[in-house]
Order: sequence, then C-alpha cells, then structure tokens
Amino acid sequence: MHPYYPAPWQGIEGNFESLPKTFDTNSPARSYNARILIADDEPRARASLKEILRFTGYETTLAESGSEAIELLNTGTFDLILLDLNMPDLDGHKVMEHIDHYRLNCDIIVVSGETTFDHATMALRKGAQDFLRKPYAPDELLRSVANVIERRQLRAANQSIHLRLQESESLHKFIVNNSPDMIYLLDQEGKFAFINERVKSLLGYSQNEIIGEHFSKLILTEDMEKAQFTFNERRAGERATRSAELKLCSKNHNGTRFFESHVIPIELSSIGIYTTNDDNSKSFIGTYGVARDISERKQAEALIKYQLYHDLLTNLPNRSLFRDRLNMAMAQSKRSGKKLAVMYLDMDRFKIINDSLGHFVGDELLKLVGQRLRSELREADTLARVGGDEFNLLVPEINDIQDARNLAEKILRLTAEPYIIKNEEIFISFSIGISIYPSDGDTKDMLIKNADIAMYKIKNAGKNGYAFYSEKMKTHFSQSLDIENGLRKAISTNELCLYYQPQFDIKKGYMRGVEALVRWKHPEKGTIQPSEFISVAEESGLIIPLGEWVLRRACTDIKRWMEQEDISLLLSVNISMQQLEMDQFVAKAMKIIKRHDLPKNTLELEITEHAIMQDMEKAIDALTRLSHKGIRIAIDDFGTGYSSLGYLQNLPINTLKIDRSFVQSIKSSEDNSIIDAIIAMAKGLNLNLIAEGVENQTQIDHLSRAGCGLAQGFFYSHPVPEDELLRFIKANGFAKGHNASESRKAPEHDTPIQ
Ligand code: C2E
Ligand code: CA
Ligand code: CA
Repeated sequence: MHPYYPAPWQGIEGNFESLPKTFDTNSPARSYNARILIADDEPRARASLKEILRFTGYETTLAESGSEAIELLNTGTFDLILLDLNMPDLDGHKVMEHIDHYRLNCDIIVVSGETTFDHATMALRKGAQDFLRKPYAPDELLRSVANVIERRQLRAANQSIHLRLQESESLHKFIVNNSPDMIYLLDQEGKFAFINERVKSLLGYSQNEIIGEHFSKLILTEDMEKAQFTFNERRAGERATRSAELKLCSKNHNGTRFFESHVIPIELSSIGIYTTNDDNSKSFIGTYGVARDISERKQAEALIKYQLYHDLLTNLPNRSLFRDRLNMAMAQSKRSGKKLAVMYLDMDRFKIINDSLGHFVGDELLKLVGQRLRSELREADTLARVGGDEFNLLVPEINDIQDARNLAEKILRLTAEPYIIKNEEIFISFSIGISIYPSDGDTKDMLIKNADIAMYKIKNAGKNGYAFYSEKMKTHFSQSLDIENGLRKAISTNELCLYYQPQFDIKKGYMRGVEALVRWKHPEKGTIQPSEFISVAEESGLIIPLGEWVLRRACTDIKRWMEQEDISLLLSVNISMQQLEMDQFVAKAMKIIKRHDLPKNTLELEITEHAIMQDMEKAIDALTRLSHKGIRIAIDDFGTGYSSLGYLQNLPINTLKIDRSFVQSIKSSEDNSIIDAIIAMAKGLNLNLIAEGVENQTQIDHLSRAGCGLAQGFFYSHPVPEDELLRFIKANGFAKGHNASESRKAPEHDTPIQ
C-alpha cells in the first residue's frame, strides 16, 4: 500500500492496482536554477559566454571539446547546452546526434562561427532551439537563453499539472471505488449514469451491467413505491432522503419470490442534483445517492427481538409473544364468529424428574416435549413455554368444543410415548386445562386464568388428563369477589398504606428517589401484597379511587419530608392504564401536585409496557400531556411486553425500568446478551435506566459495567414503611457506603432534587 493513503482504507477490499504510483503534494512547476553547459574549443569564446551568463545569474559549466561535453551531458543534469559547431575532436553536430540518440533532456542553442544557411537549418533540424552566429550581441544571447529556459519551465509545469490531474483522478476513483458504501448517480430518467465498484461485492453485478440500466433493476418489488421517492430522489437540501431503509436485490435474485440472502437491506441517503440555467432557473439533472449495507445491524436487531420473545431453551414463543398472539386471535374470532381454545399444559411431577435425574435431563426433556408437540400442531397454533414445566397452547378457529377435546386427547397420547435421554427411557404425563373464547372469558387474562383453574382441577383430581373450565370451578371468583368488597371498604376506612423502596445511583451510591408501593393492612388477614389485589382492583374499576389515594398520600408524604426532615427525593408512583384512560386524569394529577406545591420533575409516573400496548394512541396522548406539565414518565417492567422497540421513540419517556426477570438472569459476568442489548439501546435513546429486583453484588457489578446507572432491589432495601425509610436515611444519609453529608447533594444532571 502506498504510504500516502491513510489507515482507514486498510482492510477494505479493493483494487489496489489502480492506485496512483506517485502523488506529489508539493506546489506546481518547480522553479529551478537552470544548469547550462558551454561547449567551445576556444578559451576566449568560453570565457565570454560564461561572463555574460554569470552576470545575469546563470550557473555554467565549461567543456573544452565535444567529447568532454558528451561526458558531462551523460550525467544528465543539464537543462541547456550552448554548443559550438566547429570543434577539432568531435564537432557540434556529433554532440547533437548524441543528445538526440540518447534522448537526453537537454535543450540546445548553437553558437557558431559557421555562417552558411545550411549549417543553421541542419542544426535546427537536429534539435537545436536556436542558432546564434558569432559574433553575437550579448542581449541577443541572453534573450535566446531566457526564451529556451522559459519554454522549458512551461513544459515542465504542464507536464506536472498533467501528471497531477491523472493522479488526482485516480485518487478520487480509488476513494469512490473502495468506499464501504455503494455510491451511484442516476440521470433524469432514473438510469444509472455511474455506480462504484462496491456494486460487485454487494449485489454481484459488474459496473457495466448496471450503468445505463433503470434503477428499478436493483429494487425489491415490495419496495418499489418507496424507491421512487428515495432511491430516485428529486428533492434537494433538507428534504432530501437521509437514512431511509430499503431493500435491494442481488444478481441471483429471481423475481418476486426471494430468498433471504439475496435481499440486502440498506440505509440510503440521496439527493437531487440541479444545474442553474442562464435565467437563474434550475433544472433537474439526476440523483446522487449513497447506500450502506445494514444486513449485520438488521440481523442483530432480529436476534434481540427473537430473544425477547422466545424461550431460549426450547426455542418456543414465550409468555409475551403468546399473549400477543392471543390478542390477535381474539380479534379475529370476533370478526369471524368462530371459537378459539386456550390450553394450559402442566407436566406432572417434573420437579421429581429434575431433582433425581439432574438439570441436564430436565432441560433435554423440555426440549423434546416442545419438539414433539410442535411437529403435530397446525401452523396457526401457538405453543409457548410460560414457566419451568408449563406450556400454553393457543388453538384459533375451532368449530366446536369437540375439536379442542380431540386435540387434548391427542396431546396426552403423544406426550405419553417414552423419551430417550442418555439411554434411559423416561415416561411423563400432562395435566391440561382448557378455556374457550368467548364463553369462558372475553379478556386474555381471563382466558389464561380460567384454563389455569381448570388445569389445577385435573392436578387435584389425580393428574394425567384434561378438563374444560366451568362455572363450578368458581371458588377463585368468589375469592376475588371477597377481595373486591373488602377493598371497596379498605379505601374509605384507611386500611391502605404505602411502603417505599429506595432507588440508588449505582456508581455514586446516593439515593435518587423512592418508589411508592401500596399495601393493604387487613384487620384479620394481616398485610396483603398488591399482587393479590391490584388485578381485582383493575378488573372492578376500584383502581381509580385506589390510584388517586396512592398519588395523594405519596405526595403528602414527600412534601412532609421536605419540610420537616429536609429530605428531597424523586418520587415514583405506579399508575394503571385505566387511570391514564380517564379523561380528567391529567387535570386531577396536576391538581394534587399543585396542592402540595411540589417542584417540577419531582414526580415520576410508572406505567407498564403491557399497559401502554393496550391502547397506544391514548397512552401517547395522555403521557405527552403529563410530560408537558413537567411530570416524568417511566416504563415499568420493560422487556416483558411484545412490542417493536421502535415504539419508544414516539413516547415522551424519561426512564426505562428493566424488568426483574432480566436482572435475575444475571448469574455471572458472561453471556447476558439481552440485558446488555437493552442497556445499549436505552443509552442510544438517551434514557435513564433502572434495573429492578437487584439482589446481589454480581448483578450490580454486571449492570454497572454494562452502563446501567440506577438500581432498585432487596440488595439495597426492601420496600419499607415511612418511619423505617426515614431511619434508613438518617443512618445512611442519602448514600449507601458514603459519607452522608457529602452525598446529600444530588448531582446536577438529575434535576429534580433541589
Ligand atoms: P412493580 O411496580 O414492578 O414493583 C416492584 C415490585 O418488585 C414490588 O413488589 C417490590 O416489592 C418487588 N421487588 C423489589 N425489589 C425486589 C427484589 O430485589 N427481588 C424481588 N424478588 N422483588 C423485588 P410489590 O410491592 O409486591 O408490588 C407488585 C406490583 O404491584 C408492582 O410491581 C406494581 O405493578 C403493583 N403496584 C404496587 N403498588 C401499586 C400502586 O400503587 N398502583 C398500581 N397501579 N400498581 C401498584
Ligand atoms: Ca413500578
Ligand atoms: Ca416493575
């Protein structure tokens, strides 16, 4: 590689043969001191020539004879020779012949006593630039010398410019052809006027196969419409295409049915090119575009998405994907009027197999069961692994219950066949609960819950069988009715209370804020956890007064700590989608905040990814209004919803809370690709990140290394009642492991604490 070419090009595959061999970055025609040789046998003639030239500043060398002149000329360092014709040993004609024969780059002025016209023409024919007769007038000589030298310099300058032009052209060619991007020009008609060599390695076409062709030759049919405006861009300036995604097809692509590898995803930037006419109007002359291969990025994204929505052991869909498919299937059933079935499959006695034969056998068994079931199901059925030994099956579009019955029996038969693992035969059985849409529930939660209830019924009745959900299994329902009535009372009789869990800045060790978590102090049953009553509250609508109570109480508490204890913290409060959907929610929330006179940005509302996905448009609207009023927004349980990661860009989010399940999958410092990918993505979107459910140092270490700034979990503190929280703060300051007074100041980037 030539030393002039900078390092970034190294490693690019390219045609290095085409590199310019020299590249002179210095100025044009070197202005040099001309070196002049004087060849004359007569000492006086030599001396006077030398004198005249020295007077004008020329350097000269003297030769007494023709042969001496030739010897000196052979060194190749003379620009001009002043040559006498008549010399005894070797005359001037011979010297000129020598110069001509060896193509020496030396100009000739003959200075001779020969007066005949013949001598002059012969000399000029042999390559002399001028012919001076002795005696010559000094100014005539100087004029002649100056002329020759000047012409010589001009020639040299021209040559150098020519060379440099060639070099610069091949340099640009080199840059363009070795660009990792494909670069092209289209003419007015959308035909390729130019394309760089990258087209060969990217799409398999030679440049000649493309130049002159219409751009549609490279575009995948489904992308054609988009390409009309982007690949064939006519807009210039701000509105031109920047970073548009498009698919190109390679040479071996066959029509519209494509094979994945023959379709190349690209990121495109393009712009219309215009010339200015005499009347200052502009005419479109074509498009300039740069296309970058983004296959690798696309693959990485696809992998992340796959990992987020699949169980990595069995490669089956996970709970999130199952719920999403169920949602779609229910919508379709509504339209078609057909039923669908949800089955809850639980392997009997899996724990015993796992404990006695080891985890390896347990894992293999789960994989084999998954494969065996999957191979016997219809394409449209979704089989998901939703827990250790639990599978959910969605069977859309069934005609009647008998279809579900037949399938359940088939599954029991199939799974009862022995499995061979490590040369041992293993026999298992399943308990299956079935719920039918629409008769057994009209929400996905209800359908799954009822299938689960039916499954437990079979488990209790001796396992290995199936059961349909029925009204008689309603004990659970009556329980939830109890909860509903109790909760209604609890709100008015003050049985609810708030616990607070601190959130910490991992690196600095200071407390950033607290999350308010509701508890129900039941007069008989003791403290009831939210997991037991929040879903009932949501189903019954009680979540609205409950949520309002929580918000009001949390604001009152935090205000009191500010005033009486001189403690200021960020406050996180959970809200449900029903609250967000309420028309007056934003106004109500603002009223509460104003009444307590809380500083802007003190309050962060947490809403789960699942909730947002239920009604994206409403969520965007309400969250945007809250955000405008200075309320921070956090996405709770992030990573558990089945959603395109792109949706985050449309929401006014400040914080992502990584779901506990991801944090708990950190067992060592290796292979935490999903959580690392989530952290990298959040950083890219410039969001605060809180890891939830952090329980040990290993998790903290990994999170910190991967760039997650904030954490919450038992490692720091359980959720605790107010007095315990205040004691905790008094003992530790806002810091854990730091001197309290120095860490009381919140760092500037996290504005809310004032
Ligand atoms: P969440 O918002 O994800 O809250 C975090 C939950 O994780 C809390 O459970 C907390 O006790 C628990 N947790 C915290 N650190 C750890 C840890 O290190 N390990 C483990 N295993 N768990 C940890 P909690 O208090 O039972 O609340 C459960 C859920 O109930 C909350 O999940 C939230 O979705 C809901 N919830 C609680 N209070 C409210 C409320 O006022 N309004 C609404 N709408 N929902 C609430
Ligand atoms: Ca939360
Ligand atoms: Ca959470």
